[in-house]
Amino acid sequence: MTELLEKLRQLLGPKGLLDEDIEQRTTDGWGAQECHSPAIIRPENTHQLSEVMKLCHESGQKVVTHGGCTNMTRGCVSSKDELVISLERMTAIESIDSTNRTMTVQAGAPLQTVQEQAQANDLFFTLDLGARGTATIGGNIATNAGGNQVIRYGMAREQVLGLEIVLPDGRILSFMNHMLKNNAGYDLKHLFIGSEGNLGIITRAVLRLRPKMLSKTTALVATDKFSKMSHLLNHMEQALGGKLSAFETLWQNYYCIACKGENMGPPPLSENYPFYILIEASGANAESDSEQFLQALESAMSKELIANAVLAKSLQQQQTMWAIRDNIPALFAYQPMMLFDVSLPISEMESYLTEMQKI
Ligand SMILES: Cc1cc2nc3c(=O)[nH]c(=O)nc-3n(C[C@H](O)[C@H](O)[C@H](O)COP(=O)(O)OP(=O)(O)OC[C@H]3O[C@@H](n4cnc5c(N)ncnc54)[C@H](O)[C@@H]3O)c2cc1C
Repeated sequence: MTELLEKLRQLLGPKGLLDEDIEQRTTDGWGAQECHSPAIIRPENTHQLSEVMKLCHESGQKVVTHGGCTNMTRGCVSSKDELVISLERMTAIESIDSTNRTMTVQAGAPLQTVQEQAQANDLFFTLDLGARGTATIGGNIATNAGGNQVIRYGMAREQVLGLEIVLPDGRILSFMNHMLKNNAGYDLKHLFIGSEGNLGIITRAVLRLRPKMLSKTTALVATDKFSKMSHLLNHMEQALGGKLSAFETLWQNYYCIACKGENMGPPPLSENYPFYILIEASGANAESDSEQFLQALESAMSKELIANAVLAKSLQQQQTMWAIRDNIPALFAYQPMMLFDVSLPISEMESYLTEMQKI
């Protein structure tokens, strides 16, 4: 490997290859796993990465790609004989096209930067999750992340119009489509979305943007039966006429742990309900949207779908509610722990969870 590292150093310069203090880096969202790789390779553009991959391919060198290393399933863990390829120098927002509502970025751009740049241009990038400050767009796409607004806008896949990829042998594939409607043949970018770096390294992306939302109404509600939650979801979707943007259910055991985490204030609702739901609607008119939201909640209460509810009256209260949903790190106090992202049809959730808890 020494010879390969020397070639990579010559290719990338001193900033492009780190081989000191590497174990201080953590490789997952727990902040727990040390990095054991002999070096971190940090290309600054697609061309450099392509040359890196050619050299690695020629010498049969295994690599592990790092975005923000916020995944919770140890997807960035590397061993002593694997090199890390980090996208941390490929963070540029290359362009924003307000007419076509697209943004072209390098894959190492942090999610939050993308959101803020969209916002600054009166536009909206719909993907959002608790790790926004550190997670990268490339990592979001590689894991096909869902996030807080998946119910309205779909997963990361739905926000990607175009991709550029470097294959394991260094070849560059460019599918940098900018159009929402494009029915010209196969759409191979989808193979790479959710592939977790197994098929290639995502280097650039064309992202779909939407018009900026002008209103946001948030409530935390509690209910006493699982079946009521699914009725409530249908009720809110119908009553809000397409404005429902989040419906995040929290089980009592999670709620109690998350509310007690660091920097958390008093819980917005008492801790004695079996289920909590964070409900949010976004639209274009703060006054009428909030009125519609309130009416929807009131009619849900009169149908006894909700046992208790608290409406956020300020941005700070909205943030407090979301902080509970996002406080996954509070779970880290319990060890050993393995996290999974399990998807089920709503109709199967209750029996699955009852069985799981029994086990
Ligand atoms: C507090 C918190 C809240 C979260 N909430 C949610 C949530 O609500 N919904 C949800 O779906 N997820 C959630 N996640 C997980 C989240 O989806 C991932 O952490 C994030 O999308 C990964 O981005 P990353 O840049 O950190 O990728 P990394 O963790 O660096 O990488 C993830 C995987 O993708 C590969 N990879 C990274 N970059 C590239 C690239 N450019 N090309 C090819 N492969 C690459 C890596 O090798 C690894 O296998 C949460 C995580 C945290 C810490």
